[in-house]
Amino acid sequence: MEIDVPRTRAETEGVNHGIHLNAAGSALMPRCVVDAQIRHIHDEAAHGGYEACQHAETQIARTYAALGELLNCAPEQIALSDSATTSWQRIVRAFAWQPGDRILTGQAEYVSNYITFLQLARHQGVEIVVVPDDSFGQIDVDRLDSLIDSRTRLVALTHVPTNGGLVNPAAEVGTVTRAKGVPYLLDACQSAGQLALDVQAIGCDFLSATGRKYLRGPRGTGFLYIHPDWIDRLEPASLDIRSATWSARDAYTPSPGARKFETFEFNYAAVIGLGTAVDYALSWGMPAIQGRIGWLASTLRRRLERIPGVTIRDLGRETCGICTFTLEGQTAQAVKTALADAQIQVTVSERASTRLDMDQRELDAVVRASVHYYNTEDELDRLCAAITELAPAPAA
Ligand SMILES: *Cc1c(COP(=O)(O)O)cnc(C)c1O
Repeated sequence: MEIDVPRTRAETEGVNHGIHLNAAGSALMPRCVVDAQIRHIHDEAAHGGYEACQHAETQIARTYAALGELLNCAPEQIALSDSATTSWQRIVRAFAWQPGDRILTGQAEYVSNYITFLQLARHQGVEIVVVPDDSFGQIDVDRLDSLIDSRTRLVALTHVPTNGGLVNPAAEVGTVTRAKGVPYLLDACQSAGQLALDVQAIGCDFLSATGRKYLRGPRGTGFLYIHPDWIDRLEPASLDIRSATWSARDAYTPSPGARKFETFEFNYAAVIGLGTAVDYALSWGMPAIQGRIGWLASTLRRRLERIPGVTIRDLGRETCGICTFTLEGQTAQAVKTALADAQIQVTVSERASTRLDMDQRELDAVVRASVHYYNTEDELDRLCAAITELAPAPAA
């Protein structure tokens, strides 16, 4: 289905409060997502949390099924959590790391993931191998292939980085990891909800993402896909009453399916909100969403490029809805503040969020304008007009 932009804007309160270009931070929720959460909180207030949870059984089950549709997997292969990072760490921490084990990753890796690698290096003697980029600035898949050896225990890659429009060739990586029999964890935090994702086609063993970014879901939601081959082979570092049963005085039995990677407590209003958000995305269809976001972002890049002093900073052969740039003579923070004064919300991506990439390109910070399908060309024009005002005056 084509995206009905006036309709989705009418269903999105946030578009009335300025120009929101921070979908990669936390996108605007549609009204149905807000309402579903509020209804559940009212039910909790009226009947108690456990009782409300029983009433909402069908809706809660739908969240798993909707995510299964989004990713092309079974609902039993989905584990929910409170963030992408929690989901991602549940996998990485489930491996029995030994000194000398190698993790292969890319230049665009996200800060929280890399800090975990550094912890594993410091405490378990794990080696981090960073695969270089190719000439487009995406992961060099041939180099990845040649770097996989008998000590490689995991390939962990960010699909779309927090600091730019790059889309890493996730499926090409999956072809390599499948051929080599090495597990592959994809951080799809920025791609879920903006690019069509199919875990079978990508060939990843694990995929983690968040609800609040391009999926337009609530904050405090995250999810994980786990390939059935891996569900029984891994045991999470911590188990609880949901992920395991205390089956005899001296024994526990891990729960079946991906539930093993969950913990008991949930904000069920948020779980229901997430399912509602995924259904809302599915109602437009991911190809339509991906198409409009891609078109808006390339339109924005073309217009920004014409402004004197602007340098577009996005890498990659394929790009997505995250547009990053710098403006000569102005810090990224100053640009963000000036735009906020004009009710235009962008953000700044700092060096320490993606240090490998930013160090390599000698960038301290970039301005990040991340578009969603509810944004309009007119909003992009207003952003460009505001930046033109900030731009250095052309030489007389
Ligand atoms: C935002 C982000 C994360 C972290 O997501 P949380 O839900 O905040 O844990 C991980 N990876 C990438 C690439 C991100 O952009």
